[in-house]
Amino acid sequence: MAELFAAVEIISAKRDKGELTDPQIDWVIDAYTRGVVADEQMSALLMAILLNGMNGREISRWTDAMIRSGERMEWSAVKRTTVDKHSTGGVGDKITLPLAPLVAACGGAVPQLSGRGLGHTGGTLDKLESIPGWRASLSNEEMLKVLQDCGAVICAAGAGLAPADKKLYALRDVTATVEAIPLIASSIMSKKIAEGTSALILDVKTGNGAFMSDPLKARELAKVMVELGERAGVKTRALITAMDVPLGLTAGNALEVRESVEVLAGGGPADVVELTVLLAREMLDAGKITPLMDPADALKNGAAMDHWRRMISAQGGDPDATLPVAKEKTVVTAEVSGEIIEMNAMKVGVSAWRLGAGRSRQGEQVQAGAGIEIHVKPGEEIKAGQPLFTLHTDEPARFERALEALTGAVRISSTGEKVELLPLIIEKIEG
Ligand code: URA
Repeated sequence: MAELFAAVEIISAKRDKGELTDPQIDWVIDAYTRGVVADEQMSALLMAILLNGMNGREISRWTDAMIRSGERMEWSAVKRTTVDKHSTGGVGDKITLPLAPLVAACGGAVPQLSGRGLGHTGGTLDKLESIPGWRASLSNEEMLKVLQDCGAVICAAGAGLAPADKKLYALRDVTATVEAIPLIASSIMSKKIAEGTSALILDVKTGNGAFMSDPLKARELAKVMVELGERAGVKTRALITAMDVPLGLTAGNALEVRESVEVLAGGGPADVVELTVLLAREMLDAGKITPLMDPADALKNGAAMDHWRRMISAQGGDPDATLPVAKEKTVVTAEVSGEIIEMNAMKVGVSAWRLGAGRSRQGEQVQAGAGIEIHVKPGEEIKAGQPLFTLHTDEPARFERALEALTGAVRISSTGEKVELLPLIIEKIEG
């Protein structure tokens, strides 16, 4: 069958700062998914998009074409309103783990398709896989059953969901084209819209540990994504949140599961609890769900923990199993006494990644027990010689590069200097 366009026409149109037409966008995404447009042609087009941008119509059409490349899930069999959240990723961002069962306990249904970590930010599936027996891959029927029985399911997106994005994302990763706002927004939103949720909260991180370290860029990304969601009939809101310091006191898979369980048991670090409760309230509100109870109460009275245990068990996991612990530890202590003024999230993330908590190539195994425990956060006092971090890994040869990554990660001052941190919630953007 003759093809409607030649890829070079489309590449040159965008290279020359032109607008792509709807038929051009539909064709190029479809033809790339079918293998008719070659990787080198799509790479050139992606770079032209990164350099010259796309307008609202083009981004929306590009997103629709990616959704149409695969299946669209639907949850009409579920009695409750579906509502989900997506985070653009940060260091120690384990919020999905307590949040999904918490929203389920309060009356929502959370069909969460999650990813694995690549680079310095961890992935929800890698974290949950540190629970003995827990399975990330579910069939659509299994996913529906867990959602109906437990009110929340967290699993891997199947091969049928936005296959165009799977190919495009892998290509962007090796062609330095990940950072384009139209490409990030369409990648995230094509999957979330195809997932079939009726409401969505976006947690867009900004600060040194985030993908979008510039707050203005984070805001622009949030606006584009909210618009895409609303156009597709998904009630969408975005919160721009701080990622200048790690979230909570752990970064690493099993370490973060342990901290999440502490939150579900009514304890845990204040920043993790605050963000979890806030996002839960936003999700219930965006979904117009009358809460069965307030999320803060559901953490205290065991209701969220009960949903967590059911959700983990339903996916083969043992919620009572001992979590894996790394074979080796080393403690980093403070060199001077004073108040912690800064703790660079990116450096902590890279260090945890080098300890084996993350992967440097797709498909690589991660270590369940590897990562960093943080003993003191900005705003708190420390004395010289007291522990600042504990580093965990199965391979002690990794300590050297992990320690190197922490160089300059923490600033301690004894001069009464004030801590200047971003507020946890910087801005809210509604459709
Ligand atoms: N997450 C995605 O799914 N896609 C992107 O482009 C960036 C983050």
